[in-house]
Formats: sequence, C-alpha cells, structure tokens
Amino acid sequence: MPHWKAILNSVDNLFFPPVCLACSERIERVKDVLCSSCRELLSPITENYCDKCGAPMIDFTCPDCAERDFVFDIARAAFIYRNPVQELIHIFKYDAFLAPADFLSQTLLEIPDAQKIAHNFDCITSVPLHRVRYRERGYNQSELIARKLAIKWNLPYIEPVKRHLPTESQTTLNVEERINNLKNAFSLKKNINIAGKRVILVDDVFTTGTTVNEVSRILKKGGASKVAVLTAARAI
Ligand SMILES: [Zn+2]
Ligand SMILES: [Zn+2]
Repeated sequence: MPHWKAILNSVDNLFFPPVCLACSERIERVKDVLCSSCRELLSPITENYCDKCGAPMIDFTCPDCAERDFVFDIARAAFIYRNPVQELIHIFKYDAFLAPADFLSQTLLEIPDAQKIAHNFDCITSVPLHRVRYRERGYNQSELIARKLAIKWNLPYIEPVKRHLPTESQTTLNVEERINNLKNAFSLKKNINIAGKRVILVDDVFTTGTTVNEVSRILKKGGASKVAVLTAARAI
C-alpha cells in the first residue's frame, strides 16, 4: 500500500506542480528548488577567497579586510549573492516557502572548509530576529539553516543572543549608517554561559558584514573564544 505521505504529495503535485523558484520552469521535485538551467547560473565560492572573511579576492587582496577589522575569526559563504540565489533567499525569507533551507544548508555542508569548521567548533547559533518580526513571519530563516547544520554536524544549537530592536531593513544604508542602526540592537541573554566556547554563527546573507560582526562582538563579550560566520550568500 502506498504511504499516505506519498499520496498527499502526488495530490499536491497535481494542483501545485513543483516549479523552479527562480524562473517558474517545471521541476521534478519541490526540494530541488531550481531547474537545471538555473543551477548552471549558480556562483559557488570555492576558490580565491579571503582566508579571514571569505570574500572573493580582487588582485590577491580582500577588498573588505583592507577597510575593516572584523571581530569574528573566520567567515565563509556558499554562494555569491546574485540570481538565482538572490531570488531563492527572497522567497525563503518573505514568502514562507521553506524548501530553500535544505538546499542552502546542504551547500554549506559542502563548502571547502566545512569539515575544518565542524570539527573545530562547539555549538551553532543564528542571527536572531526581533520577537515582533518572528511573530509576523512565523520562523527565522537563518535559524532553519543553522538547525540543519547542527543536526548534520552533531553540534548543539543554542540561542545566547537577544535582539532588542526590530531593526528596519538595512538595504538602503551605507556601512556607517548600518553600524549606527545596529548599536544596542543585540545583547547576551541572562544565565547563558558561552565562556570559552567556539561558536558558529549562521545568517542568510553577508552584505557588509555589519550584522554578523555586531553579533560576533556580543558573543565575544560573553566569553566566546572563537566565532565562525557561515552565510548562504555573500554580496560583492
Ligand atoms: Zn529555473
Ligand atoms: Zn577578507
């Protein structure tokens, strides 16, 4: 007898056939999220990246580390933030469509330094949403990715940081405005002990790095000995 879930799936496919999230082409399975031609457009970051912050290098130097001294110890991203990943993350973040969580976490599991990071860190967390945002959205997209990594790497998922301000979208702000905007936005929760812990911090997109840097600062202030930042995508 076919499993009830398989029946529901095929009924679902009849009315809502799975489509590519970037171009709406029909695809085989929902969890594939992208069609084969959109997959060819992906830009994974697998070589020539900055050892510290993971940015693609330009003429053997890192444009970001040349200007800033990041608090985190290491950062890596799976993809460059451009289409089709940009579209994928937008749908994941705002349309309550959660299939990209699997795809994005799977890609992070396969980045060149994945094993090194998994073996040298103690726990995983994600950039928190403010509780009002969380209630509106119903989930934190970065937490979904982080929890999948935690399961695969057999590391505890923790939430030591709290977000105080429902910070408005930072997309139109420059680096300095972003830093000001995030001042006092995060703090360490009470009764949390992360002293000496090596913490992996997950977010969806690394834009200027201001958000992950601010959360890293809070984690280090709380005694974390190391912070590694993992993001699904990296803006360049
Ligand atoms: Zn497509
Ligand atoms: Zn760098």
